[in-house]
Amino acid sequence: MIPFNKPCVIGKEKDYIQEAIEQNHKLSGNGPFGDLCKSWLEQQLDCPKVLLTPSCTASLEMAAILLHIQEGDEVIMPSYTFVSTANAFVLRGARITFVDVDPVTMNINPELIKQAVTDRTKAIVVVHYAGAPCKMEPIMDIADRHQLYVIEDAAQALMSTYKGQPLGTFGHFGTLSFHETKNYTCGEGGALLINDPTFIERAEILQEKGTNRSQFKRGQVDKYTWQDIGSSFLLSELNAAYLYAQLEEAGAILQDRMETWQIYKHSLEPLVRRDVLETQPVPLDGEHNAHMFYLKVRNESERASLIAYLLEHGVMAVPHYEPLHSSKAGNVYGRLAGEDTYTTREGDRLLRLPLYFGMEKEVVEHVVHHIENYFHS
Ligand SMILES: *Cc1c(COP(=O)(O)O)cnc(C)c1O
Repeated sequence: MIPFNKPCVIGKEKDYIQEAIEQNHKLSGNGPFGDLCKSWLEQQLDCPKVLLTPSCTASLEMAAILLHIQEGDEVIMPSYTFVSTANAFVLRGARITFVDVDPVTMNINPELIKQAVTDRTKAIVVVHYAGAPCKMEPIMDIADRHQLYVIEDAAQALMSTYKGQPLGTFGHFGTLSFHETKNYTCGEGGALLINDPTFIERAEILQEKGTNRSQFKRGQVDKYTWQDIGSSFLLSELNAAYLYAQLEEAGAILQDRMETWQIYKHSLEPLVRRDVLETQPVPLDGEHNAHMFYLKVRNESERASLIAYLLEHGVMAVPHYEPLHSSKAGNVYGRLAGEDTYTTREGDRLLRLPLYFGMEKEVVEHVVHHIENYFHS
């Protein structure tokens, strides 16, 4: 069976975990490997402050707390996303205003954000689907005009850019995921990118259970005490050790995934010309990171029969999100502004193909071969 995903292992993960255990004698958060990861990310992204967290979900929850999201607030986001994008704000009492996506990129449509703004709107959360950039220029313009905060859910988007600038660095906050399904991983993990330095001090307190322990460790105060609300938003040093091995090799991981992506794109071109399917587009205003490769078939029933056919031939291909606005919780905690012209229709015909680090060329060609066979029979 060709799996949909295999967690990336690049080489030095075990060595670094061993080093954390036997040399550093430091296993909890914000240790030497955590510091290496944070510095790497700050440099790579040109970001004033990065905090490592247990997950992208936790990073989104931190952003919601830092923005003082509360009951009565509205937060605008695409309906086509993972539940955590919404949950983090619902947990603070906000109501979610879902909007439709652009059918080409599956990213939020800036025109629809404009129409969804009310005097209760506090923030916009954008999701860089498949690691392809949202239109950050018009989005930041709308946010400036209405004085709204912007959070980029960049869970899938490390190493992607919009007009040359790394994703996750446009909004007030960006959030990354290092879940095993993402390009760069440590099993479970995440990062909060703090692009507006005025949030740094409170973010450090929030992360350390509401204490000023970070200032204490830097020698800025002589004891640490309870300062504010908070939680344990730290990434274990064991995970950070694993993660650093991957960040060091981020370029090689990107290149390997990109080669697989290009084979899919190129080999499926004849089927695109025959009009039997569409393939994931190349971004026009930035660079993607080969986080996923998806195609779109005619409709949901054709997708189901293609999935079944591929499974019969040992290939795991998987759908993605069920729209949030029409889900059980989505109906309770949010509403759709405007029409669902594309979210459901395009989501229903989207299919993700196997893509992981180290996927052999023959294996990629094998997947393509079975897709061709399906459409020839
Ligand atoms: C993976 C993902 C998340 C959740 O990431 P975790 O690190 O598992 O919390 C959130 N949003 C999007 C868009 C994702 O792809």
